[in-house]
Amino acid sequence: MQMIINGEYVDASNGKVFDNVNPYTGQVICTVPSGTREDFERAAVVAKKAQKEWAEVPLYKRVDIIRKFTSIVRENLEDIARTVCEEGGKTITDARGEVECLCMVFESFAEAARHFCGNTYPLNAEARTQGDIIFTVREPLGVFVAITPFNFPMELYAHKVAPAIVTGNAVIIKAASDTPLGALKVTECLLKAGVPAGVAQYVTGSGREVGAWLAQTKNVDAVTFTGSTAVGMELMRGAANNLEHVFLELGGNDPHVFFDDCDLDLAVAEAVGGRCYNAGQTCCANKRFIVQNTIKDEFVRKLIDAIKAYRIGDPSDPQTQMGCLVSEKAAAEVEKLIEKTVQQGGELVYGGKRDGAFIEPAVILVSKDADVAKDMEIFGPVFPIIGFDTFDEAVQIANQTSYGLASGVMTNDINKAMKFAMKVQAGTCVINGSGNYRSVHQPFGGYKHSGIGREGTTHTLSEVTQEKTVAMRYTQK
Ligand code: NAD
Repeated sequence: MQMIINGEYVDASNGKVFDNVNPYTGQVICTVPSGTREDFERAAVVAKKAQKEWAEVPLYKRVDIIRKFTSIVRENLEDIARTVCEEGGKTITDARGEVECLCMVFESFAEAARHFCGNTYPLNAEARTQGDIIFTVREPLGVFVAITPFNFPMELYAHKVAPAIVTGNAVIIKAASDTPLGALKVTECLLKAGVPAGVAQYVTGSGREVGAWLAQTKNVDAVTFTGSTAVGMELMRGAANNLEHVFLELGGNDPHVFFDDCDLDLAVAEAVGGRCYNAGQTCCANKRFIVQNTIKDEFVRKLIDAIKAYRIGDPSDPQTQMGCLVSEKAAAEVEKLIEKTVQQGGELVYGGKRDGAFIEPAVILVSKDADVAKDMEIFGPVFPIIGFDTFDEAVQIANQTSYGLASGVMTNDINKAMKFAMKVQAGTCVINGSGNYRSVHQPFGGYKHSGIGREGTTHTLSEVTQEKTVAMRYTQK
């Protein structure tokens, strides 16, 4: 495959490539350009000019282009979904759902943009502005670099690119190195629909190279990033050099709390559904299972039964519920963290075996002092079970992490559920469900080290634009 800079398919300026590998078969799908700082800078210079012209295109025309884009994506849905499945190990059923989700997110932002207005401010609120009329308009920030992770290459592409483009920004997209082809195909659809060449460009290459370039370029106005906290912090440090706006959706080690008055069957279904979805590689997945000691044994028994019934296998088989991880390297990392948890005193009561890029879901009984019970995010289907006795203890364990993305609480007592929702330090709390939950409208994002900013139609349009105040003064004679 090649990159798309200024509407042209190009290789990296130094000719270097890396392999895009199907993690299920181990076969090379294609080679991918290892873009250089010169390549990225060229795209940014093009974007700078194109963005100014794009911002002059009336909103209704930009909305029409996005509608055309989603119809083109839907015509190609099966091909794009197969690519997402092949390069990422995601099940074909989930991949199809994710491409449809991308269309829904683009359409939602296009609709929301049509209702996105400035403000007027109270007249005569102070003597020095008496009689003036003050109103605001929204203008694009300029050139965005959108960096996405491997785990939701379609949905997260949409959450970054749709709001930026519809409001008149230009975007340079840099997808994860493990999943570059699906995002390339979607970018092609944008260009076919009529998005100008300099407004949607697509680059590939090592994240480190992109980060180093971002720290020194003067042609980028904003960086929107989803990925790990360590990289988010590095990007923020680099962005300070040129005061780029930075939006960060980062990691999580999300609590899922089970009180002994919950519906146990629902609790187990939510535990497994949340954790095994996308083979455990979801930022807002339930990653710490905080279970009241009175039901812990029964919960674990039922959990293991439910895991055994989960269909794991060939991602391209529509019957499969959980495929492999994104790469053998990712699976080896999960295996290493399972071993580390056991070394710290964890009791592995089920699973955890690795076969290539597959990891068998693992259930580990751990103490609340283990790393996994605090800040060690495991990006795979691992269920650390942590017991508790009292409500306050459950809240304390839930909050004993530097992350704060999402959370879930299972109980049939609405007062207890609400009290927990108010106490938990997380951007989302789901009652009677896992935190592995996202609506296009909700403000999605993290407390603490899980990020800065919120994504969703109610929020992102404000973040990708800047507000200009116009003060109209007149003399009342
Ligand atoms: P990652 O941080 O390794 O990579 C994410 C992206 O950043 C990739 O495109 C990568 O190439 C790029 N990158 C890597 N180093 C970079 C650098 N120095 N400068 C610029 N870009 C760089 O993360 P990942 O392994 O792809 O994804 C998993 C992580 O993402 C987990 O921690 C997960 O919780 C988090 N995540 C968060 C959300 C959210 O919405 N909060 C969603 C999905 C994933």
